Amino acid sequence: MFIAETAFTLKDKVNEELAEDAINSFLGSLRMNGQVLGKEFLIAKRGLIYRAFLHIPEADSLDKKYANSYVLRELKKLDEVGLSFLHKIIGKEPDCSSICVCNSPGSYIVFTDYISLESPLRCGDCFGVVPLYKIPRTYDDEYYDIICWQSDYQACDSLQMNCLTGERFGKQQMSRHNSSLSKQGIQICNNITKATGIKTYYYLYRYSSLGKKAELNRRCPSCGKEWLLDKPLHKIFDFCCNDCLLLSNISWSVR
Ligand SMILES: [Zn+2]
Ligand SMILES: [Zn+2]
Repeated sequence: MFIAETAFTLKDKVNEELAEDAINSFLGSLRMNGQVLGKEFLIAKRGLIYRAFLHIPEADSLDKKYANSYVLRELKKLDEVGLSFLHKIIGKEPDCSSICVCNSPGSYIVFTDYISLESPLRCGDCFGVVPLYKIPRTYDDEYYDIICWQSDYQACDSLQMNCLTGERFGKQQMSRHNSSLSKQGIQICNNITKATGIKTYYYLYRYSSLGKKAELNRRCPSCGKEWLLDKPLHKIFDFCCNDCLLLSNISWSVR
Protein backbone atom coordinates (compact mmCIF):
# COMPACT_ATOMS: atom_id res chain seq x y z
CA MET A 1 0.00 0.00 0.00
CA PHE A 2 1.03 3.54 -0.72
CA ILE A 3 -0.13 6.93 0.50
CA ALA A 4 -0.91 9.37 -2.27
CA GLU A 5 -1.81 13.03 -2.16
CA THR A 6 -4.16 14.31 -4.81
CA ALA A 7 -4.32 18.09 -5.10
CA PHE A 8 -7.45 19.44 -6.78
CA THR A 9 -7.27 23.05 -7.92
CA LEU A 10 -10.48 24.96 -8.57
CA LYS A 11 -10.45 27.61 -11.31
CA ASP A 12 -12.64 30.11 -9.44
CA LYS A 13 -15.02 30.32 -6.48
CA VAL A 14 -18.25 30.17 -8.53
CA ASN A 15 -18.67 26.40 -8.47
CA GLU A 16 -17.33 25.69 -4.98
CA GLU A 17 -20.21 23.51 -3.79
CA LEU A 18 -20.42 21.59 -7.06
CA ALA A 19 -16.67 21.08 -6.95
CA GLU A 20 -16.80 19.51 -3.50
CA ASP A 21 -19.55 17.13 -4.64
CA ALA A 22 -17.51 16.26 -7.73
CA ILE A 23 -14.41 15.46 -5.63
CA ASN A 24 -16.42 13.20 -3.31
CA SER A 25 -18.07 11.38 -6.22
CA PHE A 26 -14.71 10.96 -7.96
CA LEU A 27 -13.11 9.44 -4.85
CA GLY A 28 -16.17 7.21 -4.34
CA SER A 29 -15.88 5.89 -7.89
CA LEU A 30 -12.17 5.16 -7.40
CA ARG A 31 -13.04 3.23 -4.23
CA MET A 32 -15.66 1.08 -5.95
CA ASN A 33 -13.12 0.36 -8.70
CA GLY A 34 -10.50 -0.82 -6.18
CA GLN A 35 -8.11 2.06 -7.01
CA VAL A 36 -8.50 3.70 -3.58
CA LEU A 37 -8.75 1.75 -0.32
CA GLY A 38 -10.81 2.35 2.82
CA LYS A 39 -13.89 4.52 3.05
CA GLU A 40 -12.67 7.58 4.91
CA PHE A 41 -10.79 10.16 2.91
CA LEU A 42 -8.84 12.95 4.58
CA ILE A 43 -9.44 16.15 2.64
CA ALA A 44 -7.89 19.49 3.55
CA LYS A 45 -8.96 22.77 1.97
CA ARG A 46 -6.88 25.88 1.63
CA GLY A 47 -8.13 28.63 -0.66
CA LEU A 48 -9.07 27.03 -3.95
CA ILE A 49 -6.95 23.92 -3.41
CA TYR A 50 -8.28 20.68 -1.92
CA ARG A 51 -5.74 18.07 -0.88
CA ALA A 52 -6.94 14.47 -0.48
CA PHE A 53 -4.76 11.87 1.24
CA LEU A 54 -5.47 8.40 -0.10
CA HIS A 55 -4.50 4.80 0.58
CA ILE A 56 -3.81 3.05 -2.72
CA PRO A 57 -2.73 -0.56 -3.44
CA GLU A 58 0.22 0.19 -5.76
CA ALA A 59 2.22 3.23 -6.83
CA ASP A 60 0.37 3.40 -10.17
CA SER A 61 -3.14 2.60 -8.87
CA LEU A 62 -4.50 6.03 -9.80
CA ASP A 63 -3.39 5.66 -13.41
CA LYS A 64 -6.14 6.23 -15.97
CA LYS A 65 -5.44 2.81 -17.53
CA TYR A 66 -7.34 1.20 -14.61
CA ALA A 67 -10.39 3.50 -14.87
CA ASN A 68 -13.84 2.01 -15.38
CA SER A 69 -16.84 3.77 -16.96
CA TYR A 70 -17.82 5.42 -13.63
CA VAL A 71 -14.33 6.81 -12.99
CA LEU A 72 -14.25 8.19 -16.55
CA ARG A 73 -17.65 9.82 -16.01
CA GLU A 74 -16.48 11.45 -12.75
CA LEU A 75 -13.26 12.65 -14.42
CA LYS A 76 -15.40 14.45 -16.97
CA LYS A 77 -17.43 16.07 -14.18
CA LEU A 78 -14.27 17.36 -12.49
CA ASP A 79 -13.39 19.07 -15.73
CA GLU A 80 -16.89 20.50 -16.14
CA VAL A 81 -16.84 22.22 -12.72
CA GLY A 82 -13.38 23.66 -13.37
CA LEU A 83 -11.22 21.33 -11.30
CA SER A 84 -7.79 20.18 -12.35
CA PHE A 85 -5.78 17.73 -10.28
CA LEU A 86 -2.37 16.22 -9.73
CA HIS A 87 -1.49 12.93 -8.00
CA LYS A 88 1.68 12.62 -5.94
CA ILE A 89 2.96 9.52 -4.13
CA ILE A 90 4.02 10.40 -0.58
CA GLY A 91 5.47 6.98 0.22
CA LYS A 92 4.96 3.31 0.91
CA GLU A 93 3.09 2.18 4.01
CA PRO A 94 5.72 0.60 6.24
CA ASP A 95 3.50 -2.17 7.61
CA CYS A 96 1.50 -3.80 4.83
CA SER A 97 1.23 -7.15 3.06
CA SER A 98 3.09 -7.67 -0.17
CA ILE A 99 1.36 -7.60 -3.53
CA CYS A 100 1.01 -10.83 -5.50
CA VAL A 101 3.36 -10.93 -8.47
CA CYS A 102 2.51 -14.46 -9.66
CA ASN A 103 1.98 -14.72 -13.42
CA SER A 104 -1.08 -16.93 -13.20
CA PRO A 105 -2.32 -17.77 -9.69
CA GLY A 106 -3.81 -21.26 -9.37
CA SER A 107 -6.48 -20.02 -6.97
CA TYR A 108 -7.67 -17.00 -4.99
CA ILE A 109 -8.70 -16.63 -1.35
CA VAL A 110 -11.08 -13.96 -0.08
CA PHE A 111 -9.74 -12.86 3.29
CA THR A 112 -9.85 -9.76 5.48
CA ASP A 113 -10.06 -8.71 9.14
CA TYR A 114 -11.48 -5.83 11.19
CA ILE A 115 -8.50 -3.56 10.69
CA SER A 116 -7.32 -4.30 7.14
CA LEU A 117 -7.50 -1.58 4.52
CA GLU A 118 -6.13 -3.84 1.82
CA SER A 119 -8.00 -5.57 -0.98
CA PRO A 120 -9.63 -8.73 0.46
CA LEU A 121 -8.54 -10.73 -2.60
CA ARG A 122 -5.45 -12.85 -1.92
CA CYS A 123 -3.44 -15.10 -4.19
CA GLY A 124 -3.87 -18.76 -3.23
CA ASP A 125 -0.24 -19.50 -4.19
CA CYS A 126 1.76 -16.70 -2.47
CA PHE A 127 -1.04 -15.20 -0.30
CA GLY A 128 -0.06 -11.77 -1.63
CA VAL A 129 -2.70 -9.09 -2.03
CA VAL A 130 -4.37 -8.78 -5.43
CA PRO A 131 -5.66 -5.25 -6.20
CA LEU A 132 -9.25 -5.59 -7.37
CA TYR A 133 -8.68 -3.72 -10.65
CA LYS A 134 -6.34 -6.56 -11.68
CA ILE A 135 -9.31 -8.90 -12.21
CA PRO A 136 -12.35 -8.36 -14.47
CA ARG A 137 -15.14 -6.40 -12.78
CA THR A 138 -17.58 -8.51 -10.79
CA TYR A 139 -20.63 -6.25 -10.44
CA ASP A 140 -21.92 -3.64 -12.89
CA ASP A 141 -18.45 -2.50 -14.07
CA GLU A 142 -17.30 -2.18 -10.42
CA TYR A 143 -16.44 -4.35 -7.38
CA TYR A 144 -19.44 -3.20 -5.37
CA ASP A 145 -20.27 -6.77 -4.23
CA ILE A 146 -16.74 -7.44 -2.90
CA ILE A 147 -16.38 -4.05 -1.20
CA CYS A 148 -19.79 -4.36 0.51
CA TRP A 149 -18.96 -7.86 1.76
CA GLN A 150 -15.61 -6.61 3.13
CA SER A 151 -17.34 -3.79 4.97
CA ASP A 152 -19.93 -6.19 6.49
CA TYR A 153 -17.23 -8.71 7.46
CA GLN A 154 -15.22 -6.00 9.18
CA ALA A 155 -18.32 -4.86 11.07
CA CYS A 156 -18.80 -8.45 12.38
CA ASP A 157 -15.09 -8.81 13.20
CA SER A 158 -15.18 -5.49 15.09
CA LEU A 159 -18.11 -6.78 17.19
CA GLN A 160 -16.15 -9.87 18.19
CA MET A 161 -12.92 -7.92 18.83
CA ASN A 162 -14.61 -5.30 21.02
CA CYS A 163 -16.45 -7.99 23.08
CA LEU A 164 -19.14 -5.55 24.23
CA THR A 165 -22.09 -5.64 21.85
CA GLY A 166 -23.10 -8.49 19.56
CA GLU A 167 -19.90 -10.49 20.08
CA ARG A 168 -21.70 -13.82 19.62
CA PHE A 169 -23.56 -12.55 16.59
CA GLY A 170 -20.32 -11.39 14.95
CA LYS A 171 -18.55 -14.70 15.61
CA GLN A 172 -21.44 -16.77 14.30
CA GLN A 173 -21.68 -14.72 11.13
CA MET A 174 -17.96 -15.29 10.47
CA SER A 175 -17.83 -18.97 11.40
CA ARG A 176 -21.04 -20.56 10.07
CA HIS A 177 -21.03 -21.52 6.43
CA ASN A 178 -24.74 -20.76 6.08
CA SER A 179 -24.84 -17.38 7.88
CA SER A 180 -25.98 -14.34 5.95
CA LEU A 181 -22.40 -13.00 5.87
CA SER A 182 -20.94 -16.32 4.63
CA LYS A 183 -23.62 -16.68 1.95
CA GLN A 184 -22.74 -13.18 0.75
CA GLY A 185 -19.01 -14.09 0.87
CA ILE A 186 -19.46 -17.39 -0.98
CA GLN A 187 -21.49 -15.54 -3.62
CA ILE A 188 -18.66 -13.06 -4.24
CA CYS A 189 -16.22 -15.98 -4.48
CA ASN A 190 -18.50 -17.44 -7.16
CA ASN A 191 -18.61 -14.06 -8.91
CA ILE A 192 -14.78 -13.87 -8.88
CA THR A 193 -14.46 -17.47 -10.12
CA LYS A 194 -16.89 -16.66 -12.94
CA ALA A 195 -15.10 -13.41 -13.87
CA THR A 196 -11.56 -14.85 -13.79
CA GLY A 197 -11.92 -18.60 -14.41
CA ILE A 198 -9.81 -19.08 -11.24
CA LYS A 199 -11.34 -20.97 -8.31
CA THR A 200 -11.82 -18.72 -5.30
CA TYR A 201 -11.94 -19.98 -1.70
CA TYR A 202 -13.92 -18.59 1.21
CA TYR A 203 -12.55 -18.64 4.77
CA LEU A 204 -14.65 -19.66 7.77
CA TYR A 205 -13.30 -18.25 11.03
CA ARG A 206 -13.23 -20.75 13.91
CA TYR A 207 -13.21 -19.72 17.56
CA SER A 208 -14.79 -22.29 19.92
CA SER A 209 -14.06 -26.01 20.21
CA LEU A 210 -14.62 -29.13 22.28
CA GLY A 211 -10.86 -29.76 22.41
CA LYS A 212 -8.04 -30.43 19.98
CA LYS A 213 -9.12 -34.00 19.13
CA ALA A 214 -12.64 -32.95 18.25
CA GLU A 215 -11.22 -30.09 16.20
CA LEU A 216 -8.98 -32.42 14.17
CA ASN A 217 -11.99 -34.62 13.40
CA ARG A 218 -14.02 -31.72 12.10
CA ARG A 219 -15.47 -32.20 8.61
CA CYS A 220 -16.42 -29.74 5.93
CA PRO A 221 -19.61 -28.10 7.26
CA SER A 222 -21.11 -27.94 3.79
CA CYS A 223 -20.54 -31.43 2.27
CA GLY A 224 -19.43 -33.46 5.33
CA LYS A 225 -16.19 -34.72 3.72
CA GLU A 226 -12.79 -34.85 5.46
CA TRP A 227 -10.89 -31.63 4.91
CA LEU A 228 -7.91 -31.57 7.32
CA LEU A 229 -4.68 -30.61 5.50
CA ASP A 230 -1.32 -32.35 6.14
CA LYS A 231 0.20 -28.99 6.98
CA PRO A 232 -1.35 -25.55 7.33
CA LEU A 233 -1.68 -23.43 4.23
CA HIS A 234 -0.16 -19.93 4.57
CA LYS A 235 0.18 -20.57 8.35
CA ILE A 236 -3.56 -19.92 8.84
CA PHE A 237 -5.68 -22.55 7.12
CA ASP A 238 -5.73 -26.12 8.54
CA PHE A 239 -8.82 -27.21 6.62
CA CYS A 240 -9.62 -27.02 2.94
CA CYS A 241 -12.54 -28.47 0.98
CA ASN A 242 -11.80 -28.42 -2.73
CA ASP A 243 -15.39 -29.31 -3.59
CA CYS A 244 -17.04 -26.51 -1.62
CA LEU A 245 -14.05 -24.10 -1.93
CA LEU A 246 -14.05 -23.50 1.83
CA LEU A 247 -11.11 -22.96 4.20
CA SER A 248 -10.96 -22.88 7.99
CA ASN A 249 -8.54 -23.12 10.91
CA ILE A 250 -8.23 -25.33 13.99
CA SER A 251 -9.97 -23.29 16.68
CA TRP A 252 -7.66 -20.50 17.84
CA SER A 253 -8.44 -21.55 21.44
CA VAL A 254 -6.67 -24.94 21.05
CA ARG A 255 -4.44 -24.47 17.99
ZN1 LIG B 1 0.68 -14.77 -5.93
ZN1 LIG C 1 -17.12 -29.49 1.32
